[in-house]
Amino acid sequence: MTKSWGTFTSFKGKTIEIAAPDFIEVVKKLTGGKDLTVCFQCTKCTAGCPVNEKVSIQVHEIMRMLLLGMKEVLETDMIWRCTSCYTCQERCPQGIDVTDILSGLKNLAYEDGIGPDAYRENAKSVLESGFAYQTSGFRRKKRDAKGLPSLPAPNMAEVEKLAELTGLKALLEEDETK
Ligand code: SF4
Ligand code: SF4
Repeated sequence: MTKSWGTFTSFKGKTIEIAAPDFIEVVKKLTGGKDLTVCFQCTKCTAGCPVNEKVSIQVHEIMRMLLLGMKEVLETDMIWRCTSCYTCQERCPQGIDVTDILSGLKNLAYEDGIGPDAYRENAKSVLESGFAYQTSGFRRKKRDAKGLPSLPAPNMAEVEKLAELTGLKALLEEDETK
């Protein structure tokens, strides 16, 4: 995993490789990928997106980049800043599974070694402790002070099984060897 995510900040000055046929075929296989051709760039997805002011490329532009077969889409910050809130998917008048497409792009970017290191650390933490974030003594004391019950202990056998079934474990092991 590298820290090179979000390097694609604008089309200005870029040499863009359009219509990479291999990439178009990969995109078509993503959940929702087949429906991209009906996107008519209405921007309704972007208008409702809660991170639209925090990203360099908007979600409707991502949809167009995919149609054009621009693999550079994997270098955009949009796919990682997306909160998976599903607003765009619910608003799309064409019924495109926009959020699901973005989730697929996260997977493709990760496979290419592009993405924030924090995601990898979260995944490792889940595998090691059952929690995406380690609970510190300080947080536990705050829970106690407010009379909240202790967090239930995770079932690590289930976590391990899920990591195996989803391929997460293999992915992290592969990462360690890079
Ligand atoms: S809302 Fe749907 S049709 Fe409109 S730009 Fe977004 S993806 Fe395309
Ligand atoms: S799912 Fe992602 S892209 Fe869609 S509206 Fe939410 S944050 Fe924006």
